[in-house]
Amino acid sequence: MNKQIPASIPLYIDGKWELSASANSQDVTNPATQEVLTRVPFATQDEMQRAVASAKKAFQSWKETPVSSRARVMLNYQALLKEHQEELAKLLAQETGKTFEDAKGDIWRGIEVVEQAANIASMMMGETVENVATSIDCYSYTQPLGVCAGITPFNFPAMIPLWMFPMAIACGNTFILKPSEQDPITPTKLVELFEQAGAPAGVLQVIHGGKEQVDFLLDHPDIQAISFVGSVPVGQYIYRKGTDNLKRVQAFAGAKNHMVVMPDANKAAVINNLVGASVGAAGQRCMAISVAVLVGDAREWIPEIQQALAKVKPGAWDDPEAAYGPLISPQARERVLDFINRGKEEGATCLLDGSEVVVEGYPDGNWVGPTVFSDVTPQMAIYREEIFGPVLCLMTVDTLDEAIQLINECPFGNGTSIFTGSGAAARKYQHEILVGQVGINVPIPVPLPFFSFTGWRASFYGDQHAYGKQAVRFYTETKTVTARWFDSDIELAQQPNMTIQ
Ligand code: NAD
Repeated sequence: MNKQIPASIPLYIDGKWELSASANSQDVTNPATQEVLTRVPFATQDEMQRAVASAKKAFQSWKETPVSSRARVMLNYQALLKEHQEELAKLLAQETGKTFEDAKGDIWRGIEVVEQAANIASMMMGETVENVATSIDCYSYTQPLGVCAGITPFNFPAMIPLWMFPMAIACGNTFILKPSEQDPITPTKLVELFEQAGAPAGVLQVIHGGKEQVDFLLDHPDIQAISFVGSVPVGQYIYRKGTDNLKRVQAFAGAKNHMVVMPDANKAAVINNLVGASVGAAGQRCMAISVAVLVGDAREWIPEIQQALAKVKPGAWDDPEAAYGPLISPQARERVLDFINRGKEEGATCLLDGSEVVVEGYPDGNWVGPTVFSDVTPQMAIYREEIFGPVLCLMTVDTLDEAIQLINECPFGNGTSIFTGSGAAARKYQHEILVGQVGINVPIPVPLPFFSFTGWRASFYGDQHAYGKQAVRFYTETKTVTARWFDSDIELAQQPNMTIQ
């Protein structure tokens, strides 16, 4: 057992770490070995009530804390995250199975959001217009909402919590985080560092659990806004229930991301990028490329794509030769193996089958080797559903128009990319595609935090997205003031006896 990992994950309520009184808990395991790393509790109603009450109380003083002081907490936090990045990455790698480099990336993408949150003063600026009528000025402020909550998935246990609470808190809100029960160690460390950065007690609270705990957050009248990232069914449920309870909700959901490969593309770049984007992180990324659409003669590259993926080896987080790690759980592995079988049954050609992969020294890991299907049709389950594993589907079309039609008929709209040497083809694609994040000769087009993470259609429910300006809009209300001062009052103001006694 790693000494940095407690035997049981504590809750963080009212600025104190406490062990849950709950009788309900589950193991957190190393997915490469099944070693039990710790246990995570499912918080009780009383614990969650106390967390919300404390967050509500803390809001009264935090919203009055000058914006520059709030920004300074983010500056301190950024420095602490950078200082502890390697140590955090080791913990993250153990509980998720990600390779060390990938784990560092998970933290780095979160640090970039904290850097953006340190700019909060300029991002919260309102608007002004003088003389909207004679001697009347109009101006707006952005003000925080109150208590906000975040529910996060297993696949980025650093980046996604950091998409949420730094922006919400920098805006002046208080926040309740409910991390994934599958990998709660990293979020716990993130919150410890946030405390060290100087965040006052009560500003951030952490509860753990699953559906019951999420329902509590969705139903609690003192919670104003819910941020969610996870799968489609849960995202739809959270959006429906949260908005039914008249809360503001942003729900980022699953994906099926296509890479369009034009025959004039740089072949080496296509193959190299496709390998990393499809099986990197064992395909457990919401922006992973799970479908390559080969246009015209690009279909002739299929054997080389297959050969490149055949060379890729999964392995343990600290194996520098490993391209990616295990799936998060035995259940996730079973689910992916089931999709591979369905693909074969439905008539796709399995060019590379990772079902039986063996990783020496790790007989119990949740391994799936790189898997490639060709002759995939839109009716097949391996195309219709998000597999969330190292499985790449290859499809062929004759024209760019056909590729665009295929992708626009797929319900998901998180990310996509086109590889081409033609500016005109790229321009047409970026304009016509109904997907929120488009890469041109870039395989995984995740926007940096001065933009926002803008998934569309079944990949997102809500209107204001994560980080950037949209996050500020999500976590604030706008107050617009129309003000008139009477000239006659200037004379009164100039009289010496106007001082209030
Ligand atoms: P998940 O939906 O199973 O769980 C996400 C969160 O919801 C967890 O905190 C979990 O405890 C909670 N939850 C699970 N079942 C619930 C239920 N029935 N009711 C209420 N809450 C519930 O997702 P996951 O498996 O942890 O994460 C993988 C999914 O997340 C993939 O679909 C992936 O595409 C998606 N994802 C999307 C984005 C994006 O930005 N669009 C980013 C990362 C991950």
